[in-house]
Amino acid sequence: MAGVATAFHLAVRLGIYGVLLVDERDPLTLTSDKGTEAYRNWWPGPDDTMVRFMQRSITLLELLSLESGHAFAMNRQGYAYLTGEPDRIPLMRREAETVSGFGAGLLRIHSTGGSGYDASASSLDGADLVLDPSVIAEHLPFVTHRTVAMLHARRCGWMDARALGHWMLDRFLEVGGRFVRDCVNAIDIRNDRLDRVVFASGTVLYPGTLVFSTGPLFHETGLLMGLKLPVSHELHCKIILPDPDRIIPADIPMLIWTDPVFLSWTEEEKRRLSGHEDTRWLTDKFPAGVHLRPRHRDGRDTILGVWTYDRNPCSPVWPLPINPHYAETVIRALTVMVPRLSAYFGKGGETFVDGGYYCKTKDNRPLIGPLPVQNIYVNAALSGYGVMAAQAAAELVAGYLTGEPLPAYAPAFRFERFQDPVYLASLTARDGMEGQL
Ligand SMILES: Cc1cc2nc3c(=O)[nH]c(=O)nc-3n(C[C@H](O)[C@H](O)[C@H](O)COP(=O)(O)OP(=O)(O)OC[C@H]3O[C@@H](n4cnc5c(N)ncnc54)[C@H](O)[C@@H]3O)c2cc1C
Repeated sequence: MAGVATAFHLAVRLGIYGVLLVDERDPLTLTSDKGTEAYRNWWPGPDDTMVRFMQRSITLLELLSLESGHAFAMNRQGYAYLTGEPDRIPLMRREAETVSGFGAGLLRIHSTGGSGYDASASSLDGADLVLDPSVIAEHLPFVTHRTVAMLHARRCGWMDARALGHWMLDRFLEVGGRFVRDCVNAIDIRNDRLDRVVFASGTVLYPGTLVFSTGPLFHETGLLMGLKLPVSHELHCKIILPDPDRIIPADIPMLIWTDPVFLSWTEEEKRRLSGHEDTRWLTDKFPAGVHLRPRHRDGRDTILGVWTYDRNPCSPVWPLPINPHYAETVIRALTVMVPRLSAYFGKGGETFVDGGYYCKTKDNRPLIGPLPVQNIYVNAALSGYGVMAAQAAAELVAGYLTGEPLPAYAPAFRFERFQDPVYLASLTARDGMEGQL
């Protein structure tokens, strides 16, 4: 998505001649068509950088949606963050006030007995913090009645990422952009300047400028240039669960359970699982963040369920090393939020699972801009937000190439920040998780 959006921006938006898009596989098929395809302007701190960046990207997505005749089914159904823990409400409110203060829009608070929450107003910005469980139950009758608060962020939703990517790719080819299926095997650098690129096919090119958007292979790309790039990887998966009982309506927001969970087992199952070392973990407390959204595609109603309960950094390998218990674990966790999904217990084995690797920096912000080698740029490390961020990211990297004035968030994404010992020392483990779902 990052590479296609960059090529689109350069060739279609800016009319630059001679743009060549190179990928060793069909574009969009490694990571970009494997995610939840969602977007949000609702980003935590430490400052307003990510909110401003995503606001811009969403504006560009909205324009593309109009221009393409809604070719990629972008909706604005929102994200609903739910909690069943009354003690968490003050924190939820404080965090929401902070994000609102960053420019994500007004925070409307709906206390018990208060009215005015309009779930369907799709033009709303900001967020609604609904503190009346009966109002939540009225709008989302299938979520657990333990839910005590809901933060409904409004400039959020999802789309068909593959359709978006292919729409841009088609426009790129129409204006004379070229696509070559090949693998960049070597990059020769002379006097700290890009010299030539060697492909697996044996082709050698001397491009004026190179932009890398190599997703989870970005680290390997760095090694081709003798650069150790400051990124790590996490495996994130999702399930595509058929919903023949229509438990999840099509018009709801994405639902995110923000409390830690215990998976739901019968006493007998719990006893059996805790009796074995390799299944005992299934009875432990799991981290917060399990989420779902409805998907209607190719004539089928499904639920996308996502949960990364194991966030250890890893080296990307394919095929993905997916835990065989993953699907059943996600279904069981989702029932904490939507109890009726227990109808699908035992379906884990037949549920489709896919996913990919988040390529992340230590501050969970992207790398966009020049690298220390002249004429080589990067648009990568897009973590869990590459589909939603690709438009603003492409615009930004194009701005560097053409010498356009850059937005205020540009310096926050430059490579050099990881060469600054003061910045590095200021980072905490929390920064690497900032805003991550
Ligand atoms: C489970 C999951 C859920 C997600 N949910 C969301 C979401 O809701 N919203 C969102 O915005 N993002 C989401 N993401 C993240 C998003 O999918 C990624 O950030 C995004 O796809 C990254 O795009 P990319 O173009 O950088 O990488 P990729 O899509 O991986 O593309 C990189 C391309 O580079 C090519 N390449 C690499 N090395 C070479 C080489 N040497 N020569 C030639 N070609 C090369 C590869 O073949 C590949 O096609 C999710 C990700 C996952 C895994």
